[in-house]
Amino acid sequence: MADCLFCKVVAREIPARIVYEDEELLVFEDIRPQAPTHVLIIPKAHVATVNDLDPSHDSLVGTITRRAASVARERGFAEQGYRLVWNCNAGAGQTVFHIHLHLLGGRTFSWPPG
Ligand code: 5GP
Ligand code: ZN
Repeated sequence: MADCLFCKVVAREIPARIVYEDEELLVFEDIRPQAPTHVLIIPKAHVATVNDLDPSHDSLVGTITRRAASVARERGFAEQGYRLVWNCNAGAGQTVFHIHLHLLGGRTFSWPPG
């Protein structure tokens, strides 16, 4: 997608602090962290919103989720706890329309979220 910010991160047209990469996924530091760890896990393939997922993406979504748990373990807060967030559409605060799982960790989190 030519105008997609996160496709540009995947293509290295926009710099990012990349934490992990494989054929399917990219993990990079959020530019405006909301916790001591705030990384985004994205598929390399463009999907605009969670509403656009279909059954062919089921394995990918599982892989993204397990990658988040791996980063939490690596950073030492898996047992303490962490927050995973998929914002879907503007009403939930989605600003970049290429799906991304937020992994926030290293502090405590309240519930319900704002
Ligand atoms: P959303 O609000 O769509 O759920 O999350 C988008 C996230 O992307 C935000 O947390 C925002 O700080 C982050 N972000 C926006 N632009 C950039 C960028 O150019 N680089 C990086 N690394 N993160 C970005
Ligand atoms: Zn994209």
